[in-house]
Amino acid sequence: MAGYLYIHIPFCLKKCIYCDFYSVSDSKFIIGAYMTALCKELEMRKEYIGKLCGIYIGGGTPSILKEKDIATIMDKIRSTCHISAAAEITSEANPGTLTESGIKGMLNAGINRISIGVQSLRDKELSLLGRMHDAAEAIAAVTTARKSGFGNISLDLIYGIPGQDLVSWKRTLEKIVSLHSEHISAYELTPEKNTVLYEQLEKGRLHLPDEDEVAEMYYTAIDILTEAGYKHYEISNFALPNLQCRHNLNYWDRGEYLGIGAGAHSFLNGRRISNICDVRQYIHDVELGTSPIAEETLLTRREEIEETLFLGLRKTDGFDIELIPANITEHLKEALDDLAHQGLLDLSGGHIKLTRKGLIICNSVIVRLMLRIERILRA
Ligand code: SF4
Repeated sequence: MAGYLYIHIPFCLKKCIYCDFYSVSDSKFIIGAYMTALCKELEMRKEYIGKLCGIYIGGGTPSILKEKDIATIMDKIRSTCHISAAAEITSEANPGTLTESGIKGMLNAGINRISIGVQSLRDKELSLLGRMHDAAEAIAAVTTARKSGFGNISLDLIYGIPGQDLVSWKRTLEKIVSLHSEHISAYELTPEKNTVLYEQLEKGRLHLPDEDEVAEMYYTAIDILTEAGYKHYEISNFALPNLQCRHNLNYWDRGEYLGIGAGAHSFLNGRRISNICDVRQYIHDVELGTSPIAEETLLTRREEIEETLFLGLRKTDGFDIELIPANITEHLKEALDDLAHQGLLDLSGGHIKLTRKGLIICNSVIVRLMLRIERILRA
């Protein structure tokens, strides 16, 4: 039974140049029908939901929703599920669509954590990314969220932006620290295919900062944020003590969750499940009482081990070595020792975790271990 529920709101007013998430911008006329479909899907799949420790409303842009829409979905969850009194209930929000009444609407609906997509506090960088807000609006959104009563605020940042240098990134970090949020996420900008960013880079119209500078930005974030009292608990995430994002920790720990909405993903009974990624088709299917599930995969033993490895290594505390079957770790020992010898892994205390040096090249460490696992299982 899933202790975590994810609600997907796949609407954005404008596409950011780096974004390859599914979202639609002509949402005005279908939000009502979409909210009805969300409530119906929740009803259809309620048997998978246990006592909820966390609810996460993500997108897209959930702050596009009107107060009545947030109230509708939260009322439906409350009448359908048992929510733990201490549940973490998050909504994502973008400064460009976040109003004071919207913030109050979230609080009234029972949302107790807000995750704001600040991305940068440099206007030039925000404009290049295609964001709808400037730095002043981002700061105003955080200040209003705090004054209105949010006691748990998370801020998202992006580094490695074309034209960004270490000085500019440091300024964003220093200003972010002065906003005293409980949680900060800092993601490296990754050019995904089928995005404007990718096309502009291919055509040579934009250039990413070089690899060494991006690595320096990452280590600078770790140093400034840990110095300010945040625990670096996941590759890209930092939190004040005991304020890690529980929804995401459940994901990295391979806990079950149910995802509702167009394009939402679930992990239930050892299966990775994804919903149809088309809002209109989703509404149509759910209205007819048809399942909106597009794909369902029962993980193989190898996939389970690989997930344990690549999700577990995302956390800076790593994972318990016993989560990998003993007959695999036995054969992995040489590869693990080799990576430890190179200063990329720390194997002390029965845990496997990346070192500071390993964090920046986590993908290549994971690929090396996965290739080894593949060979062990094939033998
Ligand atoms: S607001 Fe978020 S989901 Fe929407 S286009 Fe921008 S990055 Fe993508």
